Amino acid sequence: MKKRIVIKVGTHVINDEEKLCVSRFEKLIQFLSLAMEKYEVILVSSGAVATGFSKIKLDKKIVSDKQALAAIGQPYLMQYYNEFLHKYGKFGAQILLVSDDFDSRKRTQAARDAINTLLKNGILPIINENDSTVVEEIMFGDNDQLSAYVTHFFDAELLVILSDINGYYDADPKEDKNAKLILHADKIDESRLYQNINTGSKFSTGGIVTKLKAADFLLKNGRSMFLANGFDLSDAKNFVLEGKHIGGTLFAPKKS
Ligand code: ADP
Repeated sequence: MKKRIVIKVGTHVINDEEKLCVSRFEKLIQFLSLAMEKYEVILVSSGAVATGFSKIKLDKKIVSDKQALAAIGQPYLMQYYNEFLHKYGKFGAQILLVSDDFDSRKRTQAARDAINTLLKNGILPIINENDSTVVEEIMFGDNDQLSAYVTHFFDAELLVILSDINGYYDADPKEDKNAKLILHADKIDESRLYQNINTGSKFSTGGIVTKLKAADFLLKNGRSMFLANGFDLSDAKNFVLEGKHIGGTLFAPKKS
């Protein structure tokens, strides 16, 4: 039986300022289709709001406008995925979730059943947060934590986060030129989970903190996470397709 993994892709990887970056998207789809040969793959994809914004310039700072942008962008995003996956004889299916879905055993099971059926039939489940029904108090707001839940509750052993950075560093590499990449981590220092929480724009996806929270949740549940660059997929390809850990950070529980 194939192992199950979740791959999460950030907005910046898919979109340039205002539109789909076709060259990166093509490379991502090629990687996904190769990964699908080896594993059961679930994709968590951001990018709906940015895709919506490429169609109509609503104000992303107004919640209802942002929800509308997600509603406009989501079907286009799915269309792009399916157009490009088609070249590899594959296609995807949309699953929109909110955190409440993980609070109800019945709803989690319903989603799990749907996902299992899709995977059994070689279809790529493409998950995003359901922006138009979610209320602020229970919003994941970033897909890092959503993808950690997806990994745990839908029985995958590894979450691969593709971001704009080569991995987790001992300091923010954009601020500190001497920052060093951490290749392995088996726990997250509590203080790291609350760092920089107020920095960055209010609408940013959460930076490194949400990724560390995702890693912390998975480590505490005996699962692993691999953080790698989504612009240059060589580390991700080496790790996921060849089993070679050259770059990227692997968060994995200590072997007992
Ligand atoms: P995405 O949109 O892919 O979810 P983000 O831009 O939200 O990604 O988060 C990644 C960013 O977090 C990096 O580009 C980097 O500037 C910032 N960052 C802050 N501290 C660190 C760190 N210790 N290691 C890696 N990245 C960090």
